[in-house]
Amino acid sequence: MADFSSFNFSGHKALVRVDFNVPLDDTFNITDDTRIKATIPTIKKILNDGGSAILMSHLGRPKNGPDDKYSLKHLVNHLHELLGGATKVFFANDCIGGQATLTASMLKPGEVLLLENLRFYKEEEKGDKSFAEKLSRLGDVYVNDAFGTAHRAHASTAIIADFFPADKKMFGLLMEAEVKSAEKVLHQSQQPFCAIIGGAKVSDKILIIENLLERATDIIIGGGMAYTFVKATGGKIGNSLCEDDRLQTALEILEKAKQKNVSIHLPETSIIADKFAADANTKDCPSDQVPDGWMGLDIGGKAIGIFSEIITKSKTILWNGPMGVFEMEKFQNGTKSIALAVAESTANGAFSLVGGGDSVAAVNKFNLADKVSYVSTGGGALLEYFEGKILPGIAAING
Ligand code: AMP
Repeated sequence: MADFSSFNFSGHKALVRVDFNVPLDDTFNITDDTRIKATIPTIKKILNDGGSAILMSHLGRPKNGPDDKYSLKHLVNHLHELLGGATKVFFANDCIGGQATLTASMLKPGEVLLLENLRFYKEEEKGDKSFAEKLSRLGDVYVNDAFGTAHRAHASTAIIADFFPADKKMFGLLMEAEVKSAEKVLHQSQQPFCAIIGGAKVSDKILIIENLLERATDIIIGGGMAYTFVKATGGKIGNSLCEDDRLQTALEILEKAKQKNVSIHLPETSIIADKFAADANTKDCPSDQVPDGWMGLDIGGKAIGIFSEIITKSKTILWNGPMGVFEMEKFQNGTKSIALAVAESTANGAFSLVGGGDSVAAVNKFNLADKVSYVSTGGGALLEYFEGKILPGIAAING
């Protein structure tokens, strides 16, 4: 694999897989452009070297071929602005075929071509070889900067790499930074290593917890998923979220942790509410004594104190999933306090990685994104990485 930073793109047509799968409102305005912004440095380096960039991405989940709602043409103007306004950005209304080939061949150094949604072809998600080969012909260098889809063995994210020699395929700057920070946490962590796992469902997080049991010193469990653990150990959780079919799994995780000398921390106290609503009545009570009709919607004051102390003593921190229903003001304090503890620990030298949709939304909400070491753009990809899986998008380039 080639090294992006030292590669000179002068005269090259770089085919760049980006993740421009951004949310759009009803009138096709981008409501969150984080993913586009994250890949701008990669595009700029290619252009500044004197190369041209052919960008390919998916957008949404189109079911039956081309669909205006999922067209990448809605992104062209914003991409043009983010590149500074002076760069020519062309659009091809297909990702393969005559127009794409012609526009790509006429592209001059310093220019950008955005291809139409890859998922207008079912071959993309199927990882079809001949589709990948057609895409590969558009450029002479392949750059993968789409960490968000690195866990998919799709034509443009993995299969395409086979059509480029080792010295003509590489990670882009975003992908490189994502992989480096994930590796730093999973394979080069300094102890104590604390993983903070929250969110709604235990079932989504079992594999990640099991893999972290091999590496972390402390695992903090918060959010709705904590109550399955509390119930499994004999606690009374009222109407809190619970996955009854996972009670046994929860006990097995706690047992494994004991054997491996990993401390699992459940919230001793919770903010409980008499209904799932912003105007609910609330109380701070022990998490294992939630009365019937009440539910735990955030971690309580004592839990915040204990969790914060563990976090501020840690040297490596991984955070995935909120501690409560942080979307409602009454239940945001736990997530906010944990975000502040992660920020404090980072300021004291810890390496902190925040990833997975809702925890990223939380650090953004509390304006703490620049106070942690790295905020990942990859939700599912990051989770799979921490589950210990090999990501096809990374493997295809690493060889
Ligand atoms: P996940 O996608 O699994 O990370 O879950 C994130 C969602 O879990 C957020 O929308 C939170 O509002 C929700 N959540 C967190 N804590 C709780 C809780 N105690 N009860 C119900 N939902 C929760």
